Amino acid sequence: MSNTLNDVVWNERAWPALQSLHQNSTCDVCVIGLGASGLHAIEYLVTHGVDVVGIDAGMVGGGAAGSNGGFILAGIAAFHHDAVGALGHDIATRLYHETLEEIALLAQHEPLFRQSGSIRIAADADEYADCVAQYECMRRDGLAVEWYEGNEGKGILFPHDGVFQPLLRVRRMARAMHDGGVRIFERTPAHVVAPGVVHANGSIIRCRTVIVAVDGRLEQLLPSLQNQVRTTRLQMLATAPDPQVTLTRPVYYRYGYDYWQQLPNGSIAMGGCRDLHEAAEWGFAVMPTQPVQQSIEATLRTVVGSQAPITHRWGAAVAYRTDDVRPLVAQISPGVWVCGAYNGTGNIVGAICAKHVARAIVTGSTTHLRWWVA
Ligand SMILES: Cc1cc2nc3c(=O)[nH]c(=O)nc-3n(C[C@H](O)[C@H](O)[C@H](O)COP(=O)(O)OP(=O)(O)OC[C@H]3O[C@@H](n4cnc5c(N)ncnc54)[C@H](O)[C@@H]3O)c2cc1C
Repeated sequence: MSNTLNDVVWNERAWPALQSLHQNSTCDVCVIGLGASGLHAIEYLVTHGVDVVGIDAGMVGGGAAGSNGGFILAGIAAFHHDAVGALGHDIATRLYHETLEEIALLAQHEPLFRQSGSIRIAADADEYADCVAQYECMRRDGLAVEWYEGNEGKGILFPHDGVFQPLLRVRRMARAMHDGGVRIFERTPAHVVAPGVVHANGSIIRCRTVIVAVDGRLEQLLPSLQNQVRTTRLQMLATAPDPQVTLTRPVYYRYGYDYWQQLPNGSIAMGGCRDLHEAAEWGFAVMPTQPVQQSIEATLRTVVGSQAPITHRWGAAVAYRTDDVRPLVAQISPGVWVCGAYNGTGNIVGAICAKHVARAIVTGSTTHLRWWVA
């Protein structure tokens, strides 16, 4: 396997690159990071008449938002009973409901979303007991969950979950913004973030407020967050269309360390096994590696039962929170906001957190954030 390959299965459409920023500018809010989080923040801000400059070190969707598993999952990254253990029933259930509302919005407005439900399959008896605990906790809190038994194995089913095409989604959002006159720039890395100013690509952006909507590499840009977040690589692969396998829903397996879904063309997109090689996966590197790829492939062959050739292998960076099960959503200094560290599950939670930050900036109130912060 080449160690320079980073070939994302979603990367199938030509994307006319946006310009990079080469001149000093001013705006109300500078948003750093044009993944789904940053774009949701921008969308909220411009809808409320705020003048925004958005920048990305690479390309729109070039981070995790355009290279993830495409799972749309209710709840924060921790399973509901684990979230309850850390936060209590009240807060964990409120957060779960917020994600359900965001999924309902997606179902209403996003044609790329397929609300198939998702399943968590137990790898052994201990994990089945954990599925039972999760089921009972969710039922107690009035959250939808069902028993599941099928070709994939035994476990539980979450009817509101689903899948979408993550890269296409962010690029459509960005294209609509750009065409609508919003100032967004690619290949414009931020080097310095301070109240009222961002230094990026040799230019200075003066602004009242900064939103750092960077998930992976957050502590690289903001070293003061080193004790709260830690970046890791997550890896995936995809196969050629496999007519021997039929999967109707995305699958979480081995406590979610392994995950896969079958794409509309029959290909299987699969990720995981980070826990088996954890020490090597921490850090800012994103290229796929042989040990993790071999582990994913072994699960593909033995557990999923697909023998189809591998067509794509890739990795991307995400940040984990080291001191809370929730993401980091905070104003870390006057006028500098951060949203990130979604613990590997950011498609829904990232959109919520980014919009919450944007709303706090527009309204001056943080009441709506109270369940998200310690
Ligand atoms: C392999 C993989 C599978 C995953 N699967 C799922 C899944 O199925 N479901 C789910 O919910 N979540 C999943 N996740 C997590 C999810 O993708 C992320 O949490 C989410 O996409 C984060 O979005 P974001 O916009 O905050 O960050 P990103 O998409 O990473 O965007 C951040 C952007 O910031 C830019 N940037 C970084 N530093 C700078 C800088 N200094 N200056 C300017 N720009 C900068 C980057 O270039 C990047 O484009 C997965 C992640 C990975 C890697």
